[in-house]
Amino acid sequence: MAESGIEKVVIIGSGPAGWTAAIYAARASLDPVVYVGVAKQDPGPVLPGGQLMLTTEVENYPGFPEGVSGPEMMMKFEDQAKRFGTRVIGEDVVKCEFSTDGGPHTLHTSQGATVRAHAVIISTGATANWLGLENEMRLARSGGGVSACAVCDGALPIFRNKPLAVVGGGDTAMEEATYLTKFASTVYVIHRRDQLRASKVMQQRFLTRPNARVLWNKAVADVLGEDKISGVVLEDTVTGERSELEVAGLFVAIGHTPATRFLQGSGLALDPAGYVELPTRSSRTNIEGVFAAGDVADARYRQAITAAGMGCQAALDAEHWLGARGLN
Ligand code: NAP
Repeated sequence: MAESGIEKVVIIGSGPAGWTAAIYAARASLDPVVYVGVAKQDPGPVLPGGQLMLTTEVENYPGFPEGVSGPEMMMKFEDQAKRFGTRVIGEDVVKCEFSTDGGPHTLHTSQGATVRAHAVIISTGATANWLGLENEMRLARSGGGVSACAVCDGALPIFRNKPLAVVGGGDTAMEEATYLTKFASTVYVIHRRDQLRASKVMQQRFLTRPNARVLWNKAVADVLGEDKISGVVLEDTVTGERSELEVAGLFVAIGHTPATRFLQGSGLALDPAGYVELPTRSSRTNIEGVFAAGDVADARYRQAITAAGMGCQAALDAEHWLGARGLN
């Protein structure tokens, strides 16, 4: 930290975007500090390192021809950032007071500390949405066959050759359901309307599998089973009629929510879904000296590689911004 007690750059969040920003900022001698966050249930699992911490095998990140586990990849990112002197703090940033006159920003942490910084990079990611049913959350927490990530959990032996269900009608639901057709006896997509939201190509990929079924106009009203899921109660969204479906796994794929609650009231522009708005083709936000990178500012691509690329952009933008003000 500079003698003034003001950090040059603080990075909030520790997924691919945050660590890449840290690598670039550290190599540019900006002496970055990363607030990695605290593990919690909110309502699903949220971990420092982000969503890749819940991913078994990453096969599409260039440079790992044999694939790599999500947690191992995040450890490598962190090690690389630390190698160049990045400081790491295991706290959440819970409130931001952004300066609008070009002066330093003030951040408040979960331990009650206050930190001041000329530049801030927000890379807090997004978390999976849940239906919000009591039994859904109970069985998700206990590992009872309810999950928000088929790609993380679908290959587990408890799901092999069993009927499985995916809730949602978007690209994620199609991707997860298609993946599950490799293991399951039947994969039911439960969708609340009579039309899928997913792109045609993703729909086709699923619908052409012999063990694919879509249950139209159905909502999950309850999840059955004590230690393990045994089925779901469905409610027809047109007639209101209830029925039961026997499944050994339920995968919830109904979108994501960006981790921006701590930014509410800070003056930072968010879109209606809560993602940080980037008004130009850069990482700059509506506030001077505040940059955003990764899923927190990107509902579209949501890939480790795109988040890492955005983290790089944010560090370069912050470096340029600090340099232009003689603060680097
Ligand atoms: P999404 O496009 O927002 O779709 C969410 C789906 O969940 C919708 O079908 C929605 O139903 C349903 N849903 C939402 N809340 C629900 C609730 N409470 N109960 C039941 N159903 C509910 O989200 P996504 O599928 O995660 O995709 C997000 C973005 O990532 C999209 O832009 C997508 O194209 C992209 N993506 C791309 C790929 C790929 O190309 N490989 C893969 C994954 C995601 P309604 O349709 O009725 O609203």
